[in-house]
Amino acid sequence: MSGKKGLVVEMVDFVGAGPGAEDLITVRGMRLLQEADCIIYAGSLVNPELLSYAKEDCVVYNSAVMHLGEVLEVMEHMEAEGKHTVRLHTGDPSLYGAIREQIDALKKKGISCRICPGVSSFCGAAAALEAEYTLPSVSQSVIITRMEGRTPVPEREKLHSLAQHGSTMVLFLSSGMTERVQAELLRGAYTEKTPCAIVYKATWQDEKVIRGVVGQLCKLAKENHITKTALIVVGDVLGDDYELSKLYDKHFTTEFRQGTDSDQSK
Ligand code: SAH
Repeated sequence: MSGKKGLVVEMVDFVGAGPGAEDLITVRGMRLLQEADCIIYAGSLVNPELLSYAKEDCVVYNSAVMHLGEVLEVMEHMEAEGKHTVRLHTGDPSLYGAIREQIDALKKKGISCRICPGVSSFCGAAAALEAEYTLPSVSQSVIITRMEGRTPVPEREKLHSLAQHGSTMVLFLSSGMTERVQAELLRGAYTEKTPCAIVYKATWQDEKVIRGVVGQLCKLAKENHITKTALIVVGDVLGDDYELSKLYDKHFTTEFRQGTDSDQSK
């Protein structure tokens, strides 16, 4: 099916809404919203301002009050009428988005779908913190994980195990469990003094950035009444020590630039 403005439209498009601010959706995501006959949005976290991109006669559902079967039923009904549904997920749909179960169910029903990526909240949090998660000589890896809640975490991924790496870590879905998070982090390579931050509603109008150290994590969350819609960022990349990059070192030769001396051993 071919939509207006030359965009090829599948029957169901999973679209990443971005972390909050309505202008942080991708241009493609915005166009898909403009063309949709139906939008099912994750009302607990998606900025409702994004719905202003919808056509006047677009049918809008809030998935926060629906179960999987109901969501699929709407998609199936729309498809039967030859209509285009946008399933709008917060951040990027690949992270804690519960999209796999929808995609597989749609495939079984012979309904085609496509995914439009979005700016994840962990990127929004980095922007709020003015942080680079991968600082030379500090950390070259980012662990994205969560504290176990009602959704179990596989044994090999328990927080204290992942914390052994001491790398940059971003915790989703965990700001209501900071006492346990703090204890688990301290069982790993982080110390009481390792820098950490809580970023509440990154990129929203009421964004809040709270900086501290791992030893104060639980206290900081309590003092600021943070229990949800927040990320916990941990690691020495939030500190002040790092090395300058090789990439922009004037002595470093790359495919695109000749360094000012011939030391190629870096
Ligand atoms: N797919 C989303 C994550 C969905 S899980 C993404 O890529 O961002 C929901 C969790 O994401 C929340 O509990 C919170 O931990 C985090 N989250 C989502 N939006 C956020 C925001 N704007 N600021 C801080 N955390 C956010």
